[in-house]
Amino acid sequence: MPDVPVPDVTVAIIGSGFGGIGMAARLKRAGITDVVLLERAADLGGTWRDNTYPGAACDVPSHLYSFSFAPNPGWTRSFSPQPEIWAYLRRVAAAEGVTERIRFGAEVTAARWDPATCLWHVATSTGTLTARFLISATGPLSDPLIPAIPGLDTFAGTVFHSAAWDHDHDLTGRNVAVIGTGASAIQFVPRIQPLVGRLTVFQRTPPWIIPRHDRRISRLEHWLFRHAPVTQRIARAGIYWGRESYALGFVKNPGIMRRAEALALGHLHRQVADPDLRTRLTPSYRMGCKRILIANDYYPALTQPNVSLVTDGITEIREKSVLTSDGTSHDADTLVFGTGFHVSDFPAAHRIFGADGMSLADRWSAKPVRTAFRGTTTPGFPNLFVLTGPNTGLGHNSQVFMIEAQIRYVVSALAHAAGHGIDRVEARPGAQAAYDRMVQRKMRPTVWMTGGCKSWYLDADGRNVSLWPDFTWVYAWQTRRFDPANYDLARSPADVSGAVAR
Ligand SMILES: Cc1cc2nc3c(=O)[nH]c(=O)nc-3n(C[C@H](O)[C@H](O)[C@H](O)COP(=O)(O)OP(=O)(O)OC[C@H]3O[C@@H](n4cnc5c(N)ncnc54)[C@H](O)[C@@H]3O)c2cc1C
Repeated sequence: MPDVPVPDVTVAIIGSGFGGIGMAARLKRAGITDVVLLERAADLGGTWRDNTYPGAACDVPSHLYSFSFAPNPGWTRSFSPQPEIWAYLRRVAAAEGVTERIRFGAEVTAARWDPATCLWHVATSTGTLTARFLISATGPLSDPLIPAIPGLDTFAGTVFHSAAWDHDHDLTGRNVAVIGTGASAIQFVPRIQPLVGRLTVFQRTPPWIIPRHDRRISRLEHWLFRHAPVTQRIARAGIYWGRESYALGFVKNPGIMRRAEALALGHLHRQVADPDLRTRLTPSYRMGCKRILIANDYYPALTQPNVSLVTDGITEIREKSVLTSDGTSHDADTLVFGTGFHVSDFPAAHRIFGADGMSLADRWSAKPVRTAFRGTTTPGFPNLFVLTGPNTGLGHNSQVFMIEAQIRYVVSALAHAAGHGIDRVEARPGAQAAYDRMVQRKMRPTVWMTGGCKSWYLDADGRNVSLWPDFTWVYAWQTRRFDPANYDLARSPADVSGAVAR
């Protein structure tokens, strides 16, 4: 019998955000400890390390936007600010023995599957390694997107993206142009408005905005959460099922959103007196088609005398100004992009190469099937699991809930492999195709497809490869345990040709 190759590690995880930390923690609890995390940055935390812009906070309540296995009785607010979430992730990583497994500054540049040895060969900026299993936890929103606007490189002032905020650049008295009015912009615009000299906000499409019911968590609640943890679990469950009910409007019957639209329009009317400004802030698409935003201070910020809202499209950027389609030149010495992230093009997928040498990105863009099986595994890419993969994003609930469902599935797959002496786990094409049909059938009536907007959820062909089109508990149910019948399973290297277990 030929020697079985010994990998450097059993499991390599790319990324150390909620996904990477949760994955490593749960693997450790399952007794799988030969794990390394490869992180390109100098610290852990992903989204919550990078997004340090003024006002950064979660928009799903913290009791739910956190790990089920690591509740934090000390959240100070319903929607915690970024420093608290980042500190929470660092605490969990330390407590779960994850921090010492992270190789910082190790950007994965290429990962290639070697069919001969059934190992992943992973090249990083600090060296190479082999792993039996590769888990990508590179995040849905970790690569900032700055649109290619003509003339951007000629701009003489300071330019940065909200996910890489330039804290050394003092905005006091500056003439600032904010490009984009998405989830990040509506958080930082109210914070910088009192500081800056002039603020010009460039809006392409008005977002739907509803009130933000944020408040301090009381001392009594803190006491209860510490001394009777069940109370925090009840609070979490209440938030979860409350948000889950929104799925009725998102995925089942978008007409239901009309009631929420009335709420949002009331919010707009109460906060903006100027009818012209109100008109320009009124969305013309069904609520939910683009991400619903929550804010109490964004509209008031736009009504301040030093702020103008520009709704004409940007055509060019010049040395000291932004030019719009109506021919107006808007002076600026600072450009802040709140233009989101590379989402539907999955940047990490360009660096992962499967059995036939094809990249995961090319595999996913090959028609007609683009969905990963259960949003996690892909034929031709054995022993690869992708967290927050295609169609696992959400418009209505906590992403951490979906991440934890995927983590349970992966742990179950690895435990099955270990228990049956299996070295190669590969989704079957038939299973993937059936799954893709199911996802796209569920997608058809959703607000993202019928709501009359153009959003970052859709890819270049107008296909929604980002979001999960059902209740999240349905996804959690489908991924509750590994389903070997949908996989080809084999031993390596002696038996890579034959399936050995079901
Ligand atoms: C400002 C902001 C607010 C948000 N608020 C919410 C919210 O309230 N509720 C919600 O549900 N979701 C929210 N999200 C979505 C959020 O991204 C997810 O909830 C979650 O944090 C994703 O965790 P992750 O570990 O999958 O990815 P990330 O946190 O993005 O972590 C990915 C990690 O992978 C690393 N990485 C990437 N590529 C490589 C590579 N090639 N080599 C090595 N390392 C690599 C990155 O450096 C990063 O550390 C928000 C997102 C943003 C940007």
